[in-house]
Amino acid sequence: MTQHPTPAQPTAPSTEHAQDPKLRPPKAGICPDPKIAHGWLHTARFLTTAPQLEHLPPLTVPEVAFVGRSNAGKSTCINTLTQQKRLAFASKTPGRTQSINLFSLGKQGITDAVLADLPGYGYAAVPREAKLRWQRVMGNYLLTRENLRGVVLLIDPRLGLTELDEILLEVIRPRVEEGLKFLVLLTKADKLNHAEAQKALSIARLQSGGGEARLFSALKKKGLDEVAQMLWRWTHEAGAPAATPVPQDEPPALD
Ligand code: GDP
Repeated sequence: MTQHPTPAQPTAPSTEHAQDPKLRPPKAGICPDPKIAHGWLHTARFLTTAPQLEHLPPLTVPEVAFVGRSNAGKSTCINTLTQQKRLAFASKTPGRTQSINLFSLGKQGITDAVLADLPGYGYAAVPREAKLRWQRVMGNYLLTRENLRGVVLLIDPRLGLTELDEILLEVIRPRVEEGLKFLVLLTKADKLNHAEAQKALSIARLQSGGGEARLFSALKKKGLDEVAQMLWRWTHEAGAPAATPVPQDEPPALD
């Protein structure tokens, strides 16, 4: 069982991040070599944790959110993509305060993108009030986060979509139509045979509503190059906001 970080002091809302004069435009274009994308993802470091939406710092750099039900494999996926053992944590403790964790990406201390790890949802033992709270936070985040460039929805294909996955798809569909990047990532693909995997992929393509769908296995390193390159492209395309140095909080203490 993995542990969840103790939330650090809430980061006060600030416009400093957005106004920092030291800007470096991201290199636009395609990412021809997966090694470049992997090297870039490996720079991931803790930026801040926000117990509530209003504690998220306003940022101008592109942000990619990872969402999914508890146990879908989100923490494993983030740790595998960034080649770090304990960057993302999963809390299996019902009712425990869950926060949005941000990780900076970019070489030489320059943040050119941010990963947002959103709380896993759907844990059966979580009280109804906590579930409703999650829905509000997630809905507001997805609808109002201005620098949100893309969303990765992690799904365990053996379980399919949960009710909250369906709600999430509804919420982001209009934003996907407006250009928000969207990837349905079918995790634990090593547990499927070829026919099952292909079937799950076809269904996920339909569900993605104009987004992408891929198979992923942290165990077999399947889909790693493709997803790394996709994230790089999403955040380095022409038109992506300029990179900016972002002050970092201390990583939260582990309990
Ligand atoms: P989270 O709650 O979404 O963050 O899920 P975790 O990353 O903690 O993963 C949940 C469980 O699925 C753990 O027991 C992982 O070891 C397992 N898991 C994650 N990814 C894979 C994978 O690619 N293959 C297999 N077989 N198991 C996986």
